Amino acid sequence: MKSKNIHFDEIFRLLKKEFKNYEIPVLSRKKWEEIVHTPYTTLISCLLSLRTKDEITEQASIRLLKKFDTPKKMIELPVQKIQSLIYPVGFYKTKAKRIKEISKNLIDNYNGNVPENFNELLKLKGVGRKTANIVMVYGHNKKGFLPIDTHCHRIPNRIGWINTKTPEQTEHALRKILPDKYWDDFNHIFVKFGQTICVPISPFCSRCPIDRYCKKISVRKSR
Ligand code: SF4
Repeated sequence: MKSKNIHFDEIFRLLKKEFKNYEIPVLSRKKWEEIVHTPYTTLISCLLSLRTKDEITEQASIRLLKKFDTPKKMIELPVQKIQSLIYPVGFYKTKAKRIKEISKNLIDNYNGNVPENFNELLKLKGVGRKTANIVMVYGHNKKGFLPIDTHCHRIPNRIGWINTKTPEQTEHALRKILPDKYWDDFNHIFVKFGQTICVPISPFCSRCPIDRYCKKISVRKSR
């Protein structure tokens, strides 16, 4: 059941206009000119991006995945070498270990391929719903998935579309109200919106294109 009282068409029209020159976070053009774009490189890039700024993720992805872009090539690398290639991404030591474990798992159990199945992706150690959704959308080009990061969780709650406590609840709530035609654009538009205008602390409401549609729930201070 989709909500009839929310002006999704107008909101998405305004946000698309605002961010018409945006770069998709996990998929910036510059990065994919240097790395072969596959489900595997999307998965590893997404793991690197967790709790890390886009620019750092991009540079680390290029250093690691330019040469080592398959599970087979990756398992030849010592963990310390992966660490040095991905530093300074957040939790680089844990991530290096995970990347090697996941690569081995893909070889042992999935013929060296990244599963094209959401629930199978969730079985990979270190892969949560956000990463699995991103791999389905941006790695396998599948429709019907909604990656929810901190911005995609915070903003719909602020606007007043939903009232949820966790990204997982947000994913389920949005699945019920957001028209399917906006699912493909939702993640990258809202990530960009959350990084530039509807920032976590003191959002820039005075220059927000959808100000008139927002209830500003729990916004105590704005600019
Ligand atoms: S009006 Fe303010 S709180 Fe609402 S979406 Fe815009 S920036 Fe965010």
